[in-house]
Amino acid sequence: MHPQFEPLLATLAPDLQGALARELNRADFSGMLSATQADALGQAGGLDEDALCFALLPFAAAYALTPISHFNVGAVAREIDGSLYFGANMEFLGAPLQQTVHAEQSAINHAWLRGARRLRGLTVNYTPCGHCRQFMNELNSGADLVISLPERSPSSLAHYLPDAFGPRDLAIQSLLMDAVDHHFSLITGGPTTDEASATLTDALSVKDGLLQQALLAANQSHAPYSQAHSAVALQTVDGRIFAGRYAENAAFNPSLPPLQSALILLNMSGADCRQIQRAVLVERENAPFSQWDATQATLTALGCREIHRQLLTA
Ligand SMILES: [Zn+2]
Repeated sequence: MHPQFEPLLATLAPDLQGALARELNRADFSGMLSATQADALGQAGGLDEDALCFALLPFAAAYALTPISHFNVGAVAREIDGSLYFGANMEFLGAPLQQTVHAEQSAINHAWLRGARRLRGLTVNYTPCGHCRQFMNELNSGADLVISLPERSPSSLAHYLPDAFGPRDLAIQSLLMDAVDHHFSLITGGPTTDEASATLTDALSVKDGLLQQALLAANQSHAPYSQAHSAVALQTVDGRIFAGRYAENAAFNPSLPPLQSALILLNMSGADCRQIQRAVLVERENAPFSQWDATQATLTALGCREIHRQLLTA
């Protein structure tokens, strides 16, 4: 169990405490609850979904990594089927502040990577910043997404982001969380010819599980504006692999880079960002920009020494 869960459990009413402890103690607990599990928890604690999400917020915030701000934010994303996904903010010492992950982005990306296809709501312990409101506006649930904050009535994203600019203004049909498969394949046969290749280590085997997971993730990435699809897969010292996808935003700056996406999954799975042994970035050839410099800089700050890059072709 996460070291911070024990004291948090002690603050709950006995019925909810016992039922939640059983879930959190599961060896495979990874920061999410299926609809069935969430339903059982709600019944045990006599809580409706809204109240249950608020009760879970401190547990989501326990995943926050905030060596710079020491300001921990937790979020719980609710899928339309009732599944719940935790999220928490993440900061990285030694990397530019722009690499920071917000709790709302974490919960949404977490749900997306675990296969959620549409969200109906998000519960968060502080009012969402402008960056996150814009990030949420990229979702296929759109302005109907319900945001629940402490001591306020639940309100739609349209309430928190009036007169919004988003994908529909740019005639984009494919929205964040829509099912996609870009059918990319890996370009193999030696190092790439671009500038970044100077820093590449030996090319990975196509059969390498790390590369295969990255390819799978890239085929589900969201980059309808630039078409610069990308993904990152990370392998920790215990052999586990975590793959994340690029989530582009109509306003560009709130886009979530593929490394951050993978780091969110790693963190929510209880793994340690300082224990990444190998990493690979895969990205489309001839894209208008590359994720390489930022990916390499942040991974280096986290102590990862083996970082690969491989190109994709349509
Ligand atoms: Zn934010």
